[in-house]
Amino acid sequence: MSVELQERPDSKTETEEALTDGFHLLIDALKKNDLNTIYGVPGIPITDFGRLAQANGMRVLSFRHEQHAGNAAAIAGYLTKKPGLCLTVSAPGFLNGLTALSNATTNCFPMILLSGSSEREIVDLQQGDYEEMDQLAIAKPLCKAAFRVLHAEDIGIAVARAIRAAVSGRPGGVYLDLPAKLFGQTMTAAAGEASLLKVVDPAPAQLPSNDSVMRALDLLKSAKKPLIILGKGAAYAQCDELVKTFVEKSGVPFLPMSMAKGLLPDNHAQSASAARSLVLKESDVVVMLGARLNWLLSHGKGKSWGEPGSKKFIQIDIDPREMDSNVEIAAPVVGDIESCLSVMCDQMGTTWTTPASEWLNAVYAKRDGNVAKMSQRVGADTSPMDYHSALGALREIIAARPDAILVNEGANTLDFARSIINMSKPRKRIDVGTWGIMGIGMGAAVAAAVETGLPVLAVEGDSAFGFSGMEIETICRYNLPVCVVVFNNNGIYRGTDVNPTGHSDVAPTVFVKDSRYELMMQAFGGVGVYATSRDQLSKAVNEAMDSGKPTLINAIIDENAGTESGRIGNLNPQSVVKK
Ligand code: ADP
Ligand code: MG
Repeated sequence: MSVELQERPDSKTETEEALTDGFHLLIDALKKNDLNTIYGVPGIPITDFGRLAQANGMRVLSFRHEQHAGNAAAIAGYLTKKPGLCLTVSAPGFLNGLTALSNATTNCFPMILLSGSSEREIVDLQQGDYEEMDQLAIAKPLCKAAFRVLHAEDIGIAVARAIRAAVSGRPGGVYLDLPAKLFGQTMTAAAGEASLLKVVDPAPAQLPSNDSVMRALDLLKSAKKPLIILGKGAAYAQCDELVKTFVEKSGVPFLPMSMAKGLLPDNHAQSASAARSLVLKESDVVVMLGARLNWLLSHGKGKSWGEPGSKKFIQIDIDPREMDSNVEIAAPVVGDIESCLSVMCDQMGTTWTTPASEWLNAVYAKRDGNVAKMSQRVGADTSPMDYHSALGALREIIAARPDAILVNEGANTLDFARSIINMSKPRKRIDVGTWGIMGIGMGAAVAAAVETGLPVLAVEGDSAFGFSGMEIETICRYNLPVCVVVFNNNGIYRGTDVNPTGHSDVAPTVFVKDSRYELMMQAFGGVGVYATSRDQLSKAVNEAMDSGKPTLINAIIDENAGTESGRIGNLNPQSVVKK
């Protein structure tokens, strides 16, 4: 249902008033709020919208599948604190984008999914319209807020509501339903302009109560073995200096969650990353800073957390309902992290007593021992490469290029990279997030490159890469400085499983042996490299990062090296019945 509209319908004759329409109102509403980049896939009924958005100065990046456009929008939101925009066609395109919208919401990333939809009257009577689907109803339970716009004069308000819903409080995903008919609706340009607004203070500061701050500081002061856990909410908040001040003033060891790595450097004197088991088990007071006690932290209980009742939690979070979600929070501090930490740092004064050296010595001795062990393994030059030797090479590269953004997904490729590759700056690590989802790789890489202009290194398991691999064409098309390293071990977890029946079908976890992923990149004009040694891998990555050319390196990893489900094999039920 393409609407023939190549230019603003305001080329008026002398007697007519200038007009605008739904297309232009939406573009103007977004631009007015500094939302200038759209990630999407064109098609009915939003093809012309994409064209017009580009013609009117927006950056419009087309993908090969909506899920990756959506993942890009979500990461754009995470990196900028403005909602990332994803544009899709109706029903199937919408559903493809919805996975990303839902994932963004789960991860507290602000994004807006804008989807065209079919004619309301026909959809609601279920008369079988083109791509018929009640998209609003389907989106609602899967995101933070969902709105439908039926009249062009409501576009300004709808965009304002979508922005506020996405970025205020706990950030998340918002759905905007745009029926095809909306785009063609006209109104006078003057009334149209008057209907648009620039949102004032979209994510207002949320100050914590004084009582809550004093309660938290009293508890922290009483601790013998305190620990701070930094989450990606703290990275998102972009108050990096305050986080540093708080951690350093407190003198408390910190543990970063995956995407909070680099908020303080991994080689910081107070880092407890390499003593994770010890600090989780032994600590008595734990400060959760923009992190949730979900499955990634064993829900704050169980064996890894030591004796039941041995911990008290302080939680600093913007969402009051996060408190007591899994275990009792003795000192909830509700507010945005910047406001919370500025009050807390003020109240700590200049004479805050840091933790007893007994605790600190125990933590740092354990850490230093583990770091030394790890250094040995990652220094090795094995043939074929294993995870340690290949990631050891990448670790040196990231250490030398601290501004580069690391995208990481896979099972073993994820788990090993998380512990081997140190980060030294905030928001430089983007990974599978709260769901442990596969398929974020190329979407995240595109957004990281587009939003920051910095080089991106995407470290991908061969299985993980497959979910978004076609987007390397997108990377080549926009000539983005993305270097993808595929850790090719011929399969999921390992490449060695066999079909016990003797049938010619391979085992369900096994791929084509020795696949030539690098040739895919060459097919689109990028650089493809086949690397079997640590030196080849280092050389190729450094060249890619220097040149900024789209590159894919097929890194051949020992097919025996992985373990089932990486480090979360315990979540994968296994049959005890033989046969
Ligand atoms: P991680 O996976 O790193 O532990 P989560 O995504 O589980 O991090 O948790 C992030 C938490 O941060 C969420 O509970 C969210 O409400 C909170 N959050 C996000 N932004 C802010 C902010 N600006 N201020 C305070 N809390 C925030
Ligand atoms: Mg694999």
